[in-house]
Amino acid sequence: MSWQAVDALKQQISLLDYLQTQDWRPVRRISRGRVMGLCPLHLDHMPSFLVDPDKNLFYCYGCGRGGDVIRFVELYHDVRFSEAMALLRRLSGLGSLLKDVSSFYQVQLHRHPEAVQYLQQRGIHQPQVIDELEIGYAPGRCLCHWLMTLGYSLLDLQQAGLVTAAGHDAYSHRVVFPLEANLYGRSIGDAVAHRFLPGGKGGLYGWERVKRCQEIILVEGLFDLAVLWQAGFRNVTCALGCYLNARQFRQLCDGAPRTVYLTFDSDANGTGQQAAQRLSRHLLEQGVTALPVELPGGHDPNSFFVHGGDNNQFQRLLQRAVR
Ligand SMILES: [Zn+2]
Repeated sequence: MSWQAVDALKQQISLLDYLQTQDWRPVRRISRGRVMGLCPLHLDHMPSFLVDPDKNLFYCYGCGRGGDVIRFVELYHDVRFSEAMALLRRLSGLGSLLKDVSSFYQVQLHRHPEAVQYLQQRGIHQPQVIDELEIGYAPGRCLCHWLMTLGYSLLDLQQAGLVTAAGHDAYSHRVVFPLEANLYGRSIGDAVAHRFLPGGKGGLYGWERVKRCQEIILVEGLFDLAVLWQAGFRNVTCALGCYLNARQFRQLCDGAPRTVYLTFDSDANGTGQQAAQRLSRHLLEQGVTALPVELPGGHDPNSFFVHGGDNNQFQRLLQRAVR
């Protein structure tokens, strides 16, 4: 990789914009257009993180670290220089590509009855919820061709992980949900159940929408979230698994007073419940009220609603978690 390429990327991506996509907000402005805020690199209680948008540099008076946008990505995601570069390069071109992919897959959903049927089996039938969550279907064998007619190169698509080295669509026979900088695909056939593009799963799903709620329901999967939306609960977010990454954890610990209901799967081996107990302890240490919710009979929120559970019954489970 040439130093020209590194410089070009640094000029192309504003550190401040990048920080804002990671939910960072400046707390106050100081001289020469510079801003201060809480440090995203350590649990900070006083604004000690300085950003200079003109120079595109940061420095933290708390942990003593500083540098440019690439250095920030290295520290924040705990990756090497080359991975940080790859992540930023993907980000600079990925936004519009993922929008095009997601619109294409949304159209495909309505052309493939097997996908609609799968959603119905998972209890998702309201067209409004399907639209709002932008749920789509990847039939396979057609995305690559369509995107190339829109002007994307095969290399772009391969680098994003949408097309395999052999030139086939990476997502095939999958119900897909767009994420902020990724794409989740659930197999409706025999393939590996869950699939993501390379790169992290990102922050909590739809965090901007729910972060001001005083009570938040945290679930493991997007099918859990979708049935809860359908039952009228909009204060739901999803961790895409029962382990939170550092960014997701920091989002819940942003200092806003709230109660988090941890509604993980009640699977037979207890993984979900153990993860919920551990997470609730860690959140309590940070001053966040976290209450593990027990679902009856080995259910996860999705199967609870699929098997006839309703809004009132679920509300009672949440209330029981309080006591
Ligand atoms: Zn710091």
